[in-house]
Amino acid sequence: MADFEVVVLGLGGIGSATLLHLARRGKRVLGIDRFIPPHSHGSSHGHTRIIRQAYFEHPQYVPLLAESYRLWRDLEKLTGEKLYHEIGVLQVGPESGVVVPGVRRAAQQHNLAVEELSPQIMRSRWPALSFPDSMAGVLEAHAGYLLVEECVRSQLAAAKDAGAEVQAPCEVLRWEGGNSIRIHTATGMITAERLVIAAGPWASTLLGDLYLQLQVRRKSVFWFAGASHFSAQAGYPCFLYELPSGVFYGFPLIGSQGIKLAKHSGGQRVENPLQVNKSIDAEDEKNIDGFRSLYLPDVTNQLLEHQTCFYTMSPDDHFIVDRHPQANNVVFAAGMSGHGFKFSPVLGQALADLSLDGGTDLPIDFLSLERLSTL
Ligand SMILES: Cc1cc2nc3c(=O)[nH]c(=O)nc-3n(C[C@H](O)[C@H](O)[C@H](O)COP(=O)(O)OP(=O)(O)OC[C@H]3O[C@@H](n4cnc5c(N)ncnc54)[C@H](O)[C@@H]3O)c2cc1C
Repeated sequence: MADFEVVVLGLGGIGSATLLHLARRGKRVLGIDRFIPPHSHGSSHGHTRIIRQAYFEHPQYVPLLAESYRLWRDLEKLTGEKLYHEIGVLQVGPESGVVVPGVRRAAQQHNLAVEELSPQIMRSRWPALSFPDSMAGVLEAHAGYLLVEECVRSQLAAAKDAGAEVQAPCEVLRWEGGNSIRIHTATGMITAERLVIAAGPWASTLLGDLYLQLQVRRKSVFWFAGASHFSAQAGYPCFLYELPSGVFYGFPLIGSQGIKLAKHSGGQRVENPLQVNKSIDAEDEKNIDGFRSLYLPDVTNQLLEHQTCFYTMSPDDHFIVDRHPQANNVVFAAGMSGHGFKFSPVLGQALADLSLDGGTDLPIDFLSLERLSTL
């Protein structure tokens, strides 16, 4: 008999959610991570993550998001932790861009409420932000942010309460397929009937035979001191700007955190995430200073905090969630492409379904591995 019915490799946002779903289905399940989660070495850290439903990236994500919202609320009830804060998300950009037309398209197709705003109206509502005359704005009120480390912590705590085991720190060196999968770790071998791989920036190493063509990018996140009126409490939403220089986003003052700003597009390619330089990069700093001085004129250059994090880009910027084509008891999520955290609970459910039942009722066909062969 195998040591576990299911092993989940990687306990970031996606893996910790999967562990919870599997444990709640009564499975003998083990979660493994190289670091003690939540930690700041992968992709699930940095205080906050935006969550929104009118999804400019593609309307096909919207039904998954509806389920994700429901599951985040369930987790809040289960753990008594407040994880989701509905302060709204304002998205700004040109009429001919990707973001504003994409938000409108998703909202229209799925009957979601978004508010259309002119630059004049936006200036009067949020004077700490600047809006050029050439830009349109859409505000989604049923959107906001998640407390990222608290989400991971809550998913793991709930999974353990439901009977899951966790081994961390524990590095997985490699795995061998078969009816009983052999998982070789730095401290010994573990066997499992099924394996779920949610390894974030390390997916290529653990799924090397699939040639996923993932590209890991280093992302810098900055927190600046800001005037107290520029706060979530005072009615400022999270914001995302599509500009000629790239896509930038930020959060107003939240509790004792400063104004968080980052660039969504671009990023330096990383070969080995374990050896990345975490100091401030001059180019990243220049980009953020440019955005801050033009669009957030009241925010000073007093830097309170800086972190680095990873985007793991798939070839088409959409997630890859599927069964391993050569090992039908192995399933995986990879290439979360810098927008996956909000989906953690629904992808955890999809991975649990794929692993235990071989399929899922959730609409994830558009995230299949096979689609990449037609690119
Ligand atoms: C700066 C930044 C901002 C973002 N903003 C948003 C946002 O606003 N909204 C949103 O929805 N998404 C956002 N994202 C994307 C989102 O955070 C990620 O898509 C998501 O967190 C990925 O989770 P994951 O579980 O796949 O990966 P990770 O969190 O990286 O977890 C993978 C885990 O696997 C473990 N692991 C890997 N290899 C091994 C091994 N060999 N042995 C043992 N353990 C191993 C790692 O230690 C790690 O804990 C952002 C990402 C970044 C970097």
